[in-house]
Amino acid sequence: MTLPTTHVSFPAGAVTGESTVLAVHPLDDGRHAVVTGATPFHPLDHTWPDQPADLGTLTVDGVELAVVDCLTGAVGPDGGAPLVGADIPVRRGDEEWSWLVLHVLAADPGDLVGRTALLTVDAGRRAALSASHSGCHLLALALNEALAPRWRKDPGRADAFGHPDFDSLAMAASVMDTEASTDTYRLGKSLRKKGFTADATEDLPALADALPELTEAVNRRLAAWVAADAPVRVDVPGPELTARRQWHCELPEGAARIFCGGTHLHHLGELAELRTELRLSEDGGELVAVTRPKRA
Ligand SMILES: [Zn+2]
Repeated sequence: MTLPTTHVSFPAGAVTGESTVLAVHPLDDGRHAVVTGATPFHPLDHTWPDQPADLGTLTVDGVELAVVDCLTGAVGPDGGAPLVGADIPVRRGDEEWSWLVLHVLAADPGDLVGRTALLTVDAGRRAALSASHSGCHLLALALNEALAPRWRKDPGRADAFGHPDFDSLAMAASVMDTEASTDTYRLGKSLRKKGFTADATEDLPALADALPELTEAVNRRLAAWVAADAPVRVDVPGPELTARRQWHCELPEGAARIFCGGTHLHHLGELAELRTELRLSEDGGELVAVTRPKRA
C-alpha cells in the first residue's frame, strides 16, 4: 500500500493536532520515522531547505515521545520505504510520488500503526522560526526596492511591487534559524548580464560605498512595515504537504505575495523590531543580509 501525501495544518499556524499513525519506518541512522495522516509539524524541505524542522512531541496512549527532527520523505509509485533528503530523485511535488512528513524519533517506538497520536509542536521554537521567515520575505521586498536604481535594464522579473526581483535573481542561499534569516546573494557575471551593476555610475556610488545608506533605507522600510502591523497569512490551495502555497502580506503599498512552503507570523505587530545588516564580501562577489526580528 502506498501512503497518501500528508495533510498539513502548519500553514495556518497550527501547533497541535490529532491523527492516526499510518506507518513507522526505521531510518538509516537507527532513528525511526512516524508517519501520520495529518500533522501540524513543518518538516525540512528537501528541495529548498530554508526553514529548519519543527520539534515537539507525539503522544500515543498517554506515552510522550520526543520528535527530535522532522523531515520530508517521498515514496515512489512502486512503494517501499520513504526516501529522504538527497536520496529523493525527483523534485518536490512530483505527482507520481507520495510526500510524507516524517516525525523522527531517536529510538524504535514499537508498533503504533492504527493508533491515534496527539501531535504537539514546540510552539516557542515555531514562533521564532515564523518571525525569521516573515522577516526574510520582507527583507526581499525592501532590498528589491532599495536596489532598483542599480538595474540598467529590465531583468524581466519583478516583485509584487513592480521592482526588479533582485532577491530571486541573485539568491544563492536562504537559511533561517530562531534568531535571524541569513540571505546570501551572488553578484556575478550572470546578474550583470541581466542588467545589475554594483559599480559606480553617473548617479550612483559603488555598491560597497553605498552599503551604509542602503542598509539604512532597507531598515527604514522594514520599520515602517512593522509599525503598520500589516496582516500576514499563507494562502493554501489544498491541505497536502505539496500544495503550492503563497505568503501574503497586506502592506501599506499593496498586497505582496511570495511562493512559500514555510510558517509565518499572523501580523507584523507581533514584532517590536526588524532590522537587517548588509555585508559585502572582500571581492564584491557576494552580498549577505542577516535580518533579525525582535518579537514584541
Ligand atoms: Zn518563504
